[in-house]
Order: sequence, then C-alpha cells, then structure tokens
Amino acid sequence: MMENHWSREDIERRVCEIRQTVEQSALAAGRRPEEIHLMAVTKTVPAAVVNYAWEAGITLFGENRAQELTEKYEDYAFKAPNIHFIGTLQTNKVRQIIGKVSCIESVDSLHLAQEISKRALAAGQAMDIFLEVNIGGEASKGGVLPGELERLLEQTALLPGVRVRGLMCIPPVCEKEEETRRYFDQMYKLFVDTKHKKIDNGNMEYLSMGMSADYGLAIRHGSNLVRVGTALFGKRNYQN
Ligand SMILES: *Cc1c(COP(=O)(O)O)cnc(C)c1O
Repeated sequence: MMENHWSREDIERRVCEIRQTVEQSALAAGRRPEEIHLMAVTKTVPAAVVNYAWEAGITLFGENRAQELTEKYEDYAFKAPNIHFIGTLQTNKVRQIIGKVSCIESVDSLHLAQEISKRALAAGQAMDIFLEVNIGGEASKGGVLPGELERLLEQTALLPGVRVRGLMCIPPVCEKEEETRRYFDQMYKLFVDTKHKKIDNGNMEYLSMGMSADYGLAIRHGSNLVRVGTALFGKRNYQN
C-alpha cells in the first residue's frame, strides 16, 4: 500500500509546491497569503504518511469517516485542534468524533446540529461547525440547498454548545472552468450575506472551498480554507 503514496521527501516537496500555489493565488486576488488555511485531506492515507505532512508544516487535517479517524487517531503526531471532520456524518457517529476534532464542516441538518450540541455539552466543550451547502443542488450530494441556508443558520444559532464558524461546499465537477467559477462566486456571495447577518452564537469566518483540482481558482474567488488530498498524497487507494 505504501508504494501508492509519496515518500517523506515527496510530501515535503508537494507541501512546498502547494503552498506556492496558495500564496500566488492569494496575491493574485489581492489577499494576504496568511489568510488562507491549507488543509491536508487524509482519507485512505496511512497515519505514518500523514505524519510526514505534519512534519513538513501542515497544521490542519481533514478526515471524512468516523471509523477511519478513530482507527488512525492514536498514530497521529497531532491531535484534536488540528483535525476537522469533513464527511457525511450519521448522528450515531457524532459521539465517536467529539473529542477528536475541533470542527465539523459537514453540518447540513438541524437534526445533526442538535446531536452535536447535545454531545458537545455532555463532553463539556463547545464545537465549531460549518454549514455545508449543496451549491449545485445535486441529489447525490449532502449539504443544505442555498435557499434553505438562512433558516438552518437561524436554527443552529440557537443551539448551546455549537458555534457556527463557516460554510463549506463541494461544487459539481464541471467541464468548463467558467462553470466552476460561477459556483464559487455563488458560494462567496452566500458567505458574505450570511456573515453580515451576525448570528449570535458564532462568528462566520471561514469559507471552506476548493480541492486538488481547483484550490487556486477557489482562493481567487474568495475561499480562505482549501481542502487538498490527491495533490498532496497522490491518488487514493480504496482497496484498504
Ligand atoms: C476527499 C475530499 C477532499 C479532497 O479531494 P482531492 O480532490 O483529493 O483534493 C476535499 N473535501 C472533501 C469533503 C473530501 O471528501
């Protein structure tokens, strides 16, 4: 399995290259590179390889399955404040991840937010959450539809133990860059609109948008948190 992944030197080199792209994209958009958070998405990647990224200076990691996170957690060189949960989350798995992550980016229903609230309170901590938006309105994808975002935001703002800190999206895969750009612009507009609503239990600060294929573009269109997997760790091997 290790053969499918990069060596320590490869990871260091990729981190440098990705950081350069992040920096150039930020500057091209007239923004400060320090504003942009770079997340390493670690699904299917063995903990030892993920730790190379930590050693190369990556401080934010994203996991998308509760079970995989639980299995790898002990072997990680970093712990809770550096890990976000980014995948579909069933309410019965919330408990498993509550002490292991500092933010759940994939909240798309009041039901899920209520469970997070309950479990966070029981653990004596507050949990940051992002609301995931299904910006392309795709039936196959999670996320709240753009037209339902405001209502979900109002409802989650009332819950104790959760703080709404951002929006996240996985736009449709598009053939043309201009289509992707349109989704990014729509997301940025939603982000700015909701930011101005000043909901009282959070501080809308993050727009989590952009993956390996388009993180530079996403930054130029307002993202301040990009989630990069393949470009850093190579193609995923789902056999394991
Ligand atoms: C896998 C995944 C990514 C990273 O995708 P790459 O194309 O490999 O960079 C980002 N966000 C989420 C939610 C993911 O599941």
